[in-house]
Amino acid sequence: MQIASHNSQHDAAEDLPLVSDAATITGIEPMDRVRHEEVIDAVELLLEVYNEKEYLDDVDGANNLDWASLRDVLIPDTDDAEGENRGVLATKLDTLQDRYERDHPMLVSLRFQTDDSLQFVPGQYVTLRYDGTSRPYSIASSPNSDETELCVQRVPDGTLTPTLCETLDEGDTISIRGPSGDFVLADPSERDLVFSATGTGIAPFKSMIDYTFEEEHHLFEDKPRDIWLFLGGAWEDDLPYRDAFRDLEEKYEQFHFVPTLTRETYLSLWKGENAYVQQTMMKYFDPETVDSSALDEDLRMYLDEEPRLDIDAQLDPNSMEVYACGINTMIHDLTEALKAVGVPEANISAEGYGQTESETNEG
Ligand SMILES: Cc1cc2nc3c(=O)[nH]c(=O)nc-3n(C[C@H](O)[C@H](O)[C@H](O)COP(=O)(O)OP(=O)(O)OC[C@H]3O[C@@H](n4cnc5c(N)ncnc54)[C@H](O)[C@@H]3O)c2cc1C
Repeated sequence: MQIASHNSQHDAAEDLPLVSDAATITGIEPMDRVRHEEVIDAVELLLEVYNEKEYLDDVDGANNLDWASLRDVLIPDTDDAEGENRGVLATKLDTLQDRYERDHPMLVSLRFQTDDSLQFVPGQYVTLRYDGTSRPYSIASSPNSDETELCVQRVPDGTLTPTLCETLDEGDTISIRGPSGDFVLADPSERDLVFSATGTGIAPFKSMIDYTFEEEHHLFEDKPRDIWLFLGGAWEDDLPYRDAFRDLEEKYEQFHFVPTLTRETYLSLWKGENAYVQQTMMKYFDPETVDSSALDEDLRMYLDEEPRLDIDAQLDPNSMEVYACGINTMIHDLTEALKAVGVPEANISAEGYGQTESETNEG
C-alpha cells in the first residue's frame, strides 16, 4: 500500500519547477451556498415541536436569531427527566448555529490558464503562490482540459485560503509550480476502480475519473469495469462536483456515486447514506466475497446493513483497486478496514491532506 506523505512540502515548494509566474485566473466560483433560510426553517420547526412558537413574536421574527436565548427557551436549565433529550437538542442547536454562522464561500472552484499548457498526470498537484504564500493543491481537471481547475476549501484561520476565497478574481494572476506527486492511477486492468474521498480530497479523483472516461479506460479489453466513488462530507453543498458526478452516473451505468453526509438531515429530508465513508463502503461489499473475521467490531456491523442506494453491483475485495484521499482519520480507518476484508495492500493507494476530522466538521 502506498500512503503519500507531505509534511515538508511547504518548505520544498520554491524548489519545484516554475510553470508560470503569471497564470491567469479564468474563473472562481463558490461551490457551496448560503443556507440561512433552511436553518431558520429548521429552528422554526423545533420551536413548534417544543410548543415555543411565541418566542419568534418576542424576538420580532425568525431573522433575529439569538442563539443564546434560543438555547434558554428550548433547553431550560432544569434537572428534569428529559436530560438525554436535552443533549440531543443541544447538539442540534450547536450544529445549526455552526452552519448559520459559517463563512461563505467555504468551497471554491478556481480555474486558470498558463501560456504553455500544463502537462501533468491525473492525481498530481501544483503549488500555487499568491500574496507571498505557497500551498499545494491537487489538480481537479483532466489533462485534456483547456484550463486547469483546483478546488479550494477555506480554512477560516488559514493564511492563504481566506484570501483565495474572498479577494481573488477573474483576470488576477497567480504563480504556479509543479506538477508534483506520484499519487496516480495504476495501469488499466480488469479490476474495478474504487475512489474514496472526504471534501476536497475529491480533487485528484475528479481528474482521474474524467480522464478514465475520456480515454475509455472504463473498458478493459472491451469489458466494462465498475467505477465507484464514495464521497463524504457534512452537508450536501460541501460535496464538490456533485452535479457532474450525478451526470456521469446518468451517462454510464457502471459509474456508481455514493455520497455520504453526516449532517444534512438537520436541514433537509436527506435519504442517502449518512455514516462515515469507511463505514458506508462496507455496506456495498458482496458478503460472499468477504472474510470479516479480522474486521473491527464497529465496522463489521455495516457489512450486514442494507445499502441506502439501489446499485446493481457489489464490491469484491479480490477484484478492486482503491484510491483514498482526504482527512487522515478516514485514510487510516479505511485502509485498515480494506486490508482486514482482504483487499491486497498493493491495490490500495492513499493520500492524506493532514487535517483532522474535527477540524473539517465532517462528523
Ligand atoms: C498534496 C496536497 C494536496 C492538497 N490539495 C488540496 C486541495 O485540492 N484543496 C484544498 O483545499 N486543500 C488542499 N491541500 C491543503 C492545502 O495545501 C492547504 O494546507 C490548505 O488550503 C490550508 O491553507 P491555508 O494557508 O489557508 O492554511 P494554513 O495557514 O496553512 O493552516 C492554518 C491551520 O489550519 C490547519 N489546516 C490546514 N488545512 C486544513 C483543512 N483543510 N481543514 C482544517 N484545518 C486545516 C493547519 O494544520 C493549520 O493549523 C492539499 C495539501 C497537500 C499536501
